[in-house]
Amino acid sequence: MTEQQNESAATPARIAKVQRLVGVKGMNDVLPPDSARWEWLEDKVRNLMGRYAYRNIRTPIVERTPLFVRGLGEVTDIVEKEMYTFDDRLNGDSLTLRPENTAGVVRAAIEHSLLYDGGKRLYYIGPMFRHERPQRGRYRQFDQVGAEALGFGGPEVDAELILLASALWVDIGLQDVRLEINSLGQPGERLEHRKALIAHLERHSAQLDEDARRRLYSNPLRILDTKNPALQEMVAAAPRLLDFLGPESMRHFESLRAILEANQVPYTVNPRLVRGMDYYNLTVFEFVTDRLGAQGTVCAGGRYDYLMEQLGGKPAPAVGWALGVDRVLELLSTQGHMSSEPQLDAYVVVTDAVFLPRVLHCLQRVRASGAQVQMHSTTASTMASMKSQLKRADSSGAAYALIFGAEEMANGEVTVKSLRDGAGSQVRHPINEPELWAPTLQSRR
Ligand code: ATP
Ligand code: MG
Repeated sequence: MTEQQNESAATPARIAKVQRLVGVKGMNDVLPPDSARWEWLEDKVRNLMGRYAYRNIRTPIVERTPLFVRGLGEVTDIVEKEMYTFDDRLNGDSLTLRPENTAGVVRAAIEHSLLYDGGKRLYYIGPMFRHERPQRGRYRQFDQVGAEALGFGGPEVDAELILLASALWVDIGLQDVRLEINSLGQPGERLEHRKALIAHLERHSAQLDEDARRRLYSNPLRILDTKNPALQEMVAAAPRLLDFLGPESMRHFESLRAILEANQVPYTVNPRLVRGMDYYNLTVFEFVTDRLGAQGTVCAGGRYDYLMEQLGGKPAPAVGWALGVDRVLELLSTQGHMSSEPQLDAYVVVTDAVFLPRVLHCLQRVRASGAQVQMHSTTASTMASMKSQLKRADSSGAAYALIFGAEEMANGEVTVKSLRDGAGSQVRHPINEPELWAPTLQSRR
């Protein structure tokens, strides 16, 4: 391309014709002020996890595909149809955007021998990716908070995790979620149940949908998790796993229930509750709501004592849950939880561009003191009138205006004008000693 052509390519008329790019379907932008609600929830989570001694773990968003195939199970919704899988351009490795993070956490724990000196309590916050049909509460990129307790076998840790989630609902004021629990027993017990279940399903084979027919022998338990309303009655009449539990599994379940009851955590035993991944055994649970339609599960988890081994690590018991941040925030919205703009402490009015170097130096120190300060700026390079700047200051919601005018600057001062006390009281302060007066800007917080 010649220089001349290049120049014409950059004319505004040409730019206007360029097609607008939009984001990926089912993957959302979170914009201010709504993003403040996400930060608020994340702060609550971090604080809570600290109180239960859960430590943050950050694993990559991309893992090798076999991790999920082996970890979650081949015949699961996620592995069969929801994963974003692609080949590494350079070496052809099959990689997958994580659809969930338990497998990643366990992979990291094995890789770094995290359990060498005992169990670990871990948590994460971050995006997951599943190729699903986008709808309210169901997206292709969504955030999960997860808590995983690795290396602990006792029912008190199952209980701890459920109590932790219950405490979060209290901390954030979430109402209308109820807890359902079940026990999937141990593999041997499941095998017996499986035979009875297959026999039941075979008796109703005419009713089965395509998914169910395909899973009849590969993963019949998963059929109990079907979202197809036409199958509900047949599923409700299926043999219950609970009836196949041996005394040890039963004891584990009863101990968990006793702790929940001592804490007055209401729950129902749902014998049909199975989870979407293969790795669970013994305890499984979900916190559900009726307010989000088919997307009613806000938090789900259970015990996965065989996953470590299945992923090549030393056998170790484990239990955990994950909650959908999008769904929790949506549920809070239905309760009237709104985002609020953060409150500014001060809005800065500057009448002449020649003052800017001194003003910005002063503001740097004001902000170091902790005050939240916004400068007046516009698209024009000339300064707006004092009057229009003060109008902006007023509508910004700031507690104070910091006025750097000609008279102030000549005296090495700034006027601090109160915008919220009705009287509009004004005080002059020295520009070069902001540490002396800047802390008073935060009086409203
Ligand atoms: P569902 O039955 O609704 O498909 P799931 O069993 O696939 O959920 P998990 O894999 O257990 O869900 O994930 C834990 C939590 O993550 C869910 O309870 C939900 O709150 C959230 N979640 C799962 N998939 C999505 C999604 N596509 N969009 C938003 N949140 C999701
Ligand atoms: Mg799902």
